[in-house]
Amino acid sequence: MKVIVVGSSHGGYEAVREILADNPDTEIQWYEKGDFLSFLSCGMQLYLEGVVKDVNSVSYATPEKMRAKGVAVYTREEITAIDPKAHTVHVQNHNNDSERDEKYDKLILSPGAVPAMLPMPGKELANIYAMRGRDWAIKLKAKTVDPNVKNVVVIGSGYIGIEAAEVFAKAGKHVTIIDLLPRLLSLYLDTEFTDVLTKEMAAHNIYPAAGQSVQRFNGKDGKVTEVVTDQAAYPADLVVEAAGIKPNTAWLKDVIDLDDKGLIKTDEYMRTSQPDIFAVGDATLVRFAPTGGTSRIALATNARRQGRFAAKNLVEAKYPVPAVSGSSALSVFDYKFASTGIKQGTAHNFDVSTKSVFVTDTYRPPFVPEKAHNAKVMFKLTYDPKTGRVLGAQIMSTEDVTANINAISLAIQGKMTIDDLAYADFFFQPGFDRPWNIINVAAQKAQRAE
Ligand code: FAD
Repeated sequence: MKVIVVGSSHGGYEAVREILADNPDTEIQWYEKGDFLSFLSCGMQLYLEGVVKDVNSVSYATPEKMRAKGVAVYTREEITAIDPKAHTVHVQNHNNDSERDEKYDKLILSPGAVPAMLPMPGKELANIYAMRGRDWAIKLKAKTVDPNVKNVVVIGSGYIGIEAAEVFAKAGKHVTIIDLLPRLLSLYLDTEFTDVLTKEMAAHNIYPAAGQSVQRFNGKDGKVTEVVTDQAAYPADLVVEAAGIKPNTAWLKDVIDLDDKGLIKTDEYMRTSQPDIFAVGDATLVRFAPTGGTSRIALATNARRQGRFAAKNLVEAKYPVPAVSGSSALSVFDYKFASTGIKQGTAHNFDVSTKSVFVTDTYRPPFVPEKAHNAKVMFKLTYDPKTGRVLGAQIMSTEDVTANINAISLAIQGKMTIDDLAYADFFFQPGFDRPWNIINVAAQKAQRAE
């Protein structure tokens, strides 16, 4: 069997790995249109902050190692068209400007996404950057140490925008972060949490400009100098755009079924609308566990999971991929937070009734002094008041309590209720938590409310 895998980031890498593990005799051709195999954007902040020194180490795989495993690796070679009937792909080889067709028995697409740059006047000015992929990583790194960059404007306050803002604030720059929505990080956290984080960011030279829409970029000598919103103008020597992504699927629109945003539709076995063509990663719609519907959740965890299931289902559709809840975590200076599923602030996007309880506690019992790692923990649980079904949760502290969110993710996946969580068996040891775990505490509060 000959399998062609398109894209070398999380989804493509995991698919190749799984095929090698399950069916090592498979002939695998692995295509990446960029010049570097398997760059991992999730490691970009660590590189930009100098924790990871070598940009090329932010990767899972090298062509040499993968070739040693028998994989035919092609970099700077782009798949530009597919003929599903003939089972062929068209390859544009950017190394020598040649073209050819390749036959496949099975095709796995993980073309991912690219930053959606704002189409505003001034968009062509220099020093308007994005934060995704190795090329931008190298350019951004140079700006962190450029003394001419004093004012940085980040557009978009999701995870990527917050990471960019923190990088440049730590590099000593004055950072403004603009978002159309009324709160920073509002798709991930409710007000109780973002109020704290907004203050934390301001204390570190990051100034929020939420609830504003960018109108244009002003410049001088071809370089950006200012970002103008509907409410104010912000000086900018560098702009980092992180206001969303768009799937890399324009070339697929006449081949496989896409939704109105260009996301690839698949079934639960990762099969597209065409026989023998599978798709995974940020270019696809994922099944959303809290509602049973589909959602757009661009996370490496999803791409890896889908890549593995596409490979497992290549020959026979036997293994449905589990639905996910968008579980994710991030640190913002001293704070560490995680969230999953539906939040009070995002509930209006879903056709479900929701109610939430918010609790605070200390990380360890009260007799443990604060300076001995006993910080405040904030936790919010969202559930369906009609059924008690758990739909989502958020947690934050200066201690790392984020793993609790994995338990909630599992509870959502298992369709558990607040009654299941209220007295669930969670460990206690004063070095780690309280006799009642904060999940128990919140679920008991929810029970009392119902
Ligand atoms: P992509 O990563 O988008 O890669 C697609 C690849 O396919 C690219 O290399 C592209 O060049 C190649 N390609 C596209 N079309 C073709 C073609 N026609 N022919 C050949 N090659 C092609 N997720 C987490 O879970 N945790 C994190 O901490 C996290 N941090 C992140 C931080 C940043 C700054 C960014 C930008 C993202 C982060 N993510 C994180 C999200 C995560 O990186 C993505 O979900 C993941 O990379 C998606 O993988 P993918 O395989 O779908 O596609």
